[in-house]
Amino acid sequence: QADTRESLYLVSEYASKYFQNVMHKTDPGKAIGLSYFKERGFTEETIKKFDLGYSLDEWQAFTDEALKKGYQLDFLEKTGLTIVKEDKRFDRFKGRVMFPIQSMSGRVLGFGGRILGIDKKAAKYLNSPESDIYHKSKVLYGIFQAKQSIAKEDNCYLVEGYTDVIQFHQRGITNVVSSSGTALSPEQIRLINRLTKNITVLFDSDAAGLRASLRGIDLILEQGMNVKVCTFPAGDDPDSFAKKNTLEEISTYLEDKAQDFIQFKASLLVADAKNDPIKKAETIRDIVNSIAKIPDRIKTEIYIRECSRIMDISEEVLFSTLAQITKKET
Ligand code: ATP
Ligand code: MN
Ligand code: MN
Ligand code: MN
Repeated sequence: QADTRESLYLVSEYASKYFQNVMHKTDPGKAIGLSYFKERGFTEETIKKFDLGYSLDEWQAFTDEALKKGYQLDFLEKTGLTIVKEDKRFDRFKGRVMFPIQSMSGRVLGFGGRILGIDKKAAKYLNSPESDIYHKSKVLYGIFQAKQSIAKEDNCYLVEGYTDVIQFHQRGITNVVSSSGTALSPEQIRLINRLTKNITVLFDSDAAGLRASLRGIDLILEQGMNVKVCTFPAGDDPDSFAKKNTLEEISTYLEDKAQDFIQFKASLLVADAKNDPIKKAETIRDIVNSIAKIPDRIKTEIYIRECSRIMDISEEVLFSTLAQITKKET
């Protein structure tokens, strides 16, 4: 088992080097992969910092080269880099730009691959499948590059995508990681919790799932962390916003707009419920549920007072709802 894992690490490391080489040293790599990243505004330095690469638009260019170098098909298949069908082999990431996903200590665990151009049938991003070394709920994209800065700034920005992480770095904001489109898991939160108690969640403005993702944030509260949230102007995500603004403008925006999570949620729910008493009752239970996750009793009390004000409901009712919820859970 330990041997298998080590072999998967070696294959992944090799693949990352291979995809980088293809992008920097071959004609299609430069013309397609490298130009794609340059058009997105990434500098040579940024591209190197995140070991970005390109996988040729050929059926088995990578697999053939890896086998030639002596890597075993079994391990290529287990990392998902090669798809084996009967006697045929296919490169999983054919014709995609490559984002290696690294562990806290910098080992390559898996990849995200983005399609170029527009193929409505194919997924925009493709990820490595779960393997003995890659568990998507246990990794955070960018953690290797961000860990020191997260500790130093005593705050971690959490974004949705790979390119949000990268663009922020390029602008000079380096305490940023991404859960890569999935709902945040307790393991991922623990990774951050080791470095700081403060998280600022940055939502894409398109965030269709904004309300759904609010639920995931309760997991962060449960771990005793302080959560702020920040949304972006219509049409923007952290990447596009950072691309067209200076570091100072971005910093100012984040300082002005980042709002305490409980307050944010309370205001949002109040607006949703408007004059519908039944809906309002539901939302009050919803917000008190979130408050109930906070382990610190002093904070709980402060939030109850805040929400009483925001939602225009008496503190007594909120406190007794809180008591009911905590009683049910213990
Ligand atoms: P880009 O700017 O390159 O178009 P994005 O990062 O803004 O991409 P979003 O659509 O906002 O993309 O999605 C956020 C993240 O969710 C992506 O970075 C990726 O990790 C993940 N994701 C998006 N679409 C898919 C998909 N079809 N399959 C798997 N993961 C996806
Ligand atoms: Mn999005
Ligand atoms: Mn996005
Ligand atoms: Mn984007």
